[in-house]
Amino acid sequence: MEEQKNHKAGFVSIIGYPNVGKSTLMNRLVGERLSIISSKAQTTRHRIMGIISDEDFQIVYSDTPGILDPKYKLQQAMLRFVHQALEDADIILYVTDLFQKEPDAHILQAIKTAGAPIIVVLNKIDLDKEGRVEELIQFWQETLEPVKVIPISALLEANVASVMDSLKDLLPEHPAYFPKDELTDKTERFFAAEILREKIFMNYKKEVPYSSEVVITSFKEEEDIIRIAAEIYVERRTQRAILIGDKGSALKKTGTEARLEMEAFFGKKVFLEQYVRVSPDWRKNDIQLRRFGYDG
Ligand code: GDP
Ligand code: MG
Repeated sequence: MEEQKNHKAGFVSIIGYPNVGKSTLMNRLVGERLSIISSKAQTTRHRIMGIISDEDFQIVYSDTPGILDPKYKLQQAMLRFVHQALEDADIILYVTDLFQKEPDAHILQAIKTAGAPIIVVLNKIDLDKEGRVEELIQFWQETLEPVKVIPISALLEANVASVMDSLKDLLPEHPAYFPKDELTDKTERFFAAEILREKIFMNYKKEVPYSSEVVITSFKEEEDIIRIAAEIYVERRTQRAILIGDKGSALKKTGTEARLEMEAFFGKKVFLEQYVRVSPDWRKNDIQLRRFGYDG
């Protein structure tokens, strides 16, 4: 891509508990200009939610799947997840609302020390019956020491523009990461892989998720069903055994969860086939690249 003077670009990680309004905010921020979900995303820890580009900037929004999901009980695991997920963020957009109780102190500390500037979005101010907004702004200012706390109503589109302005201010100077108008047919495969990967993260401990890589080898959309074949690569036979579980039970659970989420995501019935393969040096070979579609 051509390098342009003063061009700004960066990755914005959106994090927050379920239901605080992340998706609604994303829709407002990206709006109709939601352009691409490129298959060439270089990050594996994030799900790219949307990209907004203009002549002189590009913001890549990503979701950090499950990062504050209460299902994720083990604190150590959660902390590791927070660090990993926020590692390559240029800006952290922490979304909360009037009702969400704050995460525990360790999680807050992990977010605070992740190394990227933070913007706290306090959403749903349209529901502020008790006049708590000022107090909560104060609370978040002290707790996360963000660049700003921005009270908004994503639903009523109130003050969303100032979120956008603050993000643009904080973006580093960098050329665009993605072609500004590219549309790709690999979108769906990318999301299917990310969804399965997320379920692997939630269902297995320790080294299994970090030793796994997902490649979608086939994605066929028919009139009322999508047929997806996924290969899961692990490094050792023992990991394969763990992944599959007793009589296939663990893999079945993971596959069912992934399928249900894919169905919700694609809005269609999904038939998901999974194959587990052992490939001792997958990190060295081209699986990672295949996953992102570089093999064409
Ligand atoms: P997510 O789980 O964080 O992505 O949250 P969603 O964007 O899916 O929103 C969860 C619920 O909160 C939905 O019913 C939204 O319509 C609602 N919601 C989101 N933003 C606002 C807001 O600013 N005000 C009100 N009253 N409701 C909102
Ligand atoms: Mg959502």
